[in-house]
Amino acid sequence: MTFKAEYLWIDGTEPTAKLRSKTKILAADQHPAHGAELPIWGFDGSSTNQAKGHASDRVLKPVAHYPDPIRGGEDILVLCEVLDIDMTPHASNTRAALAEVAERFGDQESIFGIEQEYTFFKGARPLGFPEGGFPAAQGGYYCGVGADEIFGRDVVEAHLDNCLKAGLGISGINAEVMPGQWEFQVGPLSPLEVSDQLWVARWLLYRTAEDFDVTATLDPKPVKGDWNGAGAHTNFSTRAMREGPDGYAAIITACESLGEGSKPMDHVKNYGAGIDDRLTGLHETAPWNEYSYGVSDRGASVRIPWQVEKDGKGYIEDRRPNANVDPYVVTRLLVDTCCAALEK
Ligand code: ADP
Ligand code: MN
Ligand code: MN
Ligand code: MN
Ligand code: MN
Repeated sequence: MTFKAEYLWIDGTEPTAKLRSKTKILAADQHPAHGAELPIWGFDGSSTNQAKGHASDRVLKPVAHYPDPIRGGEDILVLCEVLDIDMTPHASNTRAALAEVAERFGDQESIFGIEQEYTFFKGARPLGFPEGGFPAAQGGYYCGVGADEIFGRDVVEAHLDNCLKAGLGISGINAEVMPGQWEFQVGPLSPLEVSDQLWVARWLLYRTAEDFDVTATLDPKPVKGDWNGAGAHTNFSTRAMREGPDGYAAIITACESLGEGSKPMDHVKNYGAGIDDRLTGLHETAPWNEYSYGVSDRGASVRIPWQVEKDGKGYIEDRRPNANVDPYVVTRLLVDTCCAALEK
């Protein structure tokens, strides 16, 4: 007997990497349920912007696996890191750098919840946009109900079920401010887990929508003008921030550390391609070139939820990352900046 393993990896497309996958048939005794280690595999890096044609082989190293909700049964999804043939991380492999930083600050027990916003398209238009025109202005769509406000709920429900069947730590979904725009949240989980699972949830989003003949995009500003962009608000805490009595002091230390010296720019320029198109200061964003933080403030770079101020402990929300951010990068930067400051 055999089973199917869908090997997923992140390619070298610029400026925003995308997901690739291919199927490996494995013998039943190679299943991780039997304690077996999944085999490494290879691919043509010259077709994914990860190699030149004359030395094209790249290595897929399995790092996490999940039940495959699309195929079902014993079949699995296998998330991989990309390595060079000397078994060192390929230049496009941002996971390896996160693993190092997460390990270095491991005793601070960082956890993350990421809010992934995205937009469905049918052909060249967002789902729900009429042919050759625009729908009614924003206002009623966010968390709406009814065929005049909601576009793509069947896809969203199927995606949610697929994520749950895969065992992903999805914590919720909601319809967003623009028609055809939605959000799901992954976490709270450790830096590597939240990032791995967000990439797998993205793959499941594209794969689920494929069966409905709809596409999903992480474009941070899919419609120009007075329409909301798509972000990936990144909620973050360390044990010190989550636990009293000095939780709030730790939260302020983290917020301040993100504003120091070159930190605002170091972060923003790695928070997803096209960030200046989305962080305009309008549509619940702070301008990309001005760092700020505040309680309950959805116009700040970093928000401290009101409940967190009231409890004197909890987490912060970095509102800057674009929908197309690499979660391995945003979690690495937040752990690196905030945990280094909290260590002092
Ligand atoms: P918003 O009000 O910004 O839309 P959401 O409910 O969409 O908030 O997302 C909040 C996210 O924060 C969720 O993914 C949740 O799991 C996560 N979260 C909650 N508590 C913590 C915490 N202590 N540390 C990190 N993330 C957290
Ligand atoms: Mn071939
Ligand atoms: Mn949200
Ligand atoms: Mn949102
Ligand atoms: Mn949010």
